[in-house]
Amino acid sequence: MQRLGANALAVRSSQTGLVFNIQKYSVNDGPGIRTTVFLKGCPLRCAWCHNPEGISAAQELIWVKTRCTSCGACRNVCPIADLVPGPGPIPAGHEKCVLCFKCVSACSSGARQMAGREMTVDEVMDEVRRDQMFYEDSGGGVTFSGGEPFRQHKFLMGLLEAGRNKGLHTAVDTCGFVPKERLIDALPLVDLFLYDIKIMDDAKHVRYTGVSNKLILENLWLLDGAGAHIWLRIPIIPEVNDSPADLEAIVQLAAQLKSVQQINLLPYHSIGAHKSRNLGKCRETFVFQEMEPARMREVQLRFRAVGVPVRVGG
Ligand code: SF4
Ligand code: SF4
Repeated sequence: MQRLGANALAVRSSQTGLVFNIQKYSVNDGPGIRTTVFLKGCPLRCAWCHNPEGISAAQELIWVKTRCTSCGACRNVCPIADLVPGPGPIPAGHEKCVLCFKCVSACSSGARQMAGREMTVDEVMDEVRRDQMFYEDSGGGVTFSGGEPFRQHKFLMGLLEAGRNKGLHTAVDTCGFVPKERLIDALPLVDLFLYDIKIMDDAKHVRYTGVSNKLILENLWLLDGAGAHIWLRIPIIPEVNDSPADLEAIVQLAAQLKSVQQINLLPYHSIGAHKSRNLGKCRETFVFQEMEPARMREVQLRFRAVGVPVRVGG
């Protein structure tokens, strides 16, 4: 077990990063009961993204229109209100918004929210450790997700080291599009990688995520060769990767890897599209159907050939 000296720990614990959610009692992000910490910033642009508030590396404004009571309190405090024709709230993502977040404090209905809170390693770990007894009883721990957590590499390393020094089980949920050296740095501090595999056909991967899968696959083999514990996470997106040929290509890959302990199939759902609208982003280019449970059972059966447990969900 790697431990740091007092000076190095002091530097790491004051490292700051942008966190957009800390989810307690998570049972879908690794073994047992866990706390999942979501870090901002992602190099991919998946057409079906379930966490669009994690894509940008900067703070953003969210407006949940369905919670808005049209009270006007947000407009009263907004420094750009005169520049934007009224009378309703200034939409999220407005080009003139200066992201002062005064409207978030003014809104009593929770319709205005801030995506991305700057926190130190110590602040995050203080929240995480509040549930330590649940981790101990259930075999759980802490999971760092996003976005892509390696995007905030120094912050992630600080969090992993703090987790290790507190004796917590640590998991990292990664898209794998990460410089190799960062993965190698993190290896001694990560008990489990939740590793996303989306599409094996590279041209299709570029079309739907914006990047090639070459580095992602190389990094997966690197972790596999290093004996890291890996759970593969595969989003199942209708008409993107659920054809027999697309599924078979992923099954073949998984069957060749020796360090994969579990496969999680994540059915597409449309929550990401709603969240995008709340951020003021348009995501109309790709439209997908929700996955039927019967169809997911068929997909699950295909993955049984790999010979490891296959779960639908996290
Ligand atoms: S303060 Fe909140 S509830 Fe009131 S108008 Fe603005 S967004 Fe709607
Ligand atoms: S965050 Fe944007 S919309 Fe909200 S008060 Fe500030 S400038 Fe206005």
